[in-house]
Amino acid sequence: MDTIVIPAGHGRAFRVAAGRRVRIETPSGQQSADFFAFCADDPTEFLSPHRSWMPTRALHPRVGDVFLSRKRRPMATLVEDGADGVHDLLIAPCDPIRYEQFGVPRHRSCIGNLREAMAAIGLEPPEYALTVNFFTATTVDDGYMFRTPSAPVARPGAYVALEALTDLVCAVSSCPYDLTGPGWAINAPGGLTEIVVDLL
Ligand SMILES: [Zn+2]
Repeated sequence: MDTIVIPAGHGRAFRVAAGRRVRIETPSGQQSADFFAFCADDPTEFLSPHRSWMPTRALHPRVGDVFLSRKRRPMATLVEDGADGVHDLLIAPCDPIRYEQFGVPRHRSCIGNLREAMAAIGLEPPEYALTVNFFTATTVDDGYMFRTPSAPVARPGAYVALEALTDLVCAVSSCPYDLTGPGWAINAPGGLTEIVVDLL
């Protein structure tokens, strides 16, 4: 088993062969793990959250749900959920433009983390790939998405496990979003924390 410790607010990329499993954990809890995946034989074919939730009608992925590529190729199955469904399929990963709009240019971002992580293994990702956001607490009610104070959050040690259905290149970003907005917080109020990835 290989273990990758992703420092708080950073990202790492790694390969997962078809049939292998990957486990992703937030040791401290409430740290969003933005999960990117690309087909190894065509890195422009990336995971599409929108195409993934349409067949399941589930905005929070459940065990057995399959994540699809933008060309609707089955990429991975969620085989274990140790986070009680606290995951998000709707929020686009943060990117440098978003932080410029927030007035904090040069802030780290999940898209920036993806670029760094892929470069470290000699690859260049397509611009603006999308993510499944593990350990991200969102609620959809009456057509509006928000996080309520009473909504469950990912506890310390919460995890998921995925099984690859085709050869994949994956990347995980410990989401660097640490800004405060009214009624909204992606990560734990105490600050960003590391994410641990085990290749099983
Ligand atoms: Zn982010």
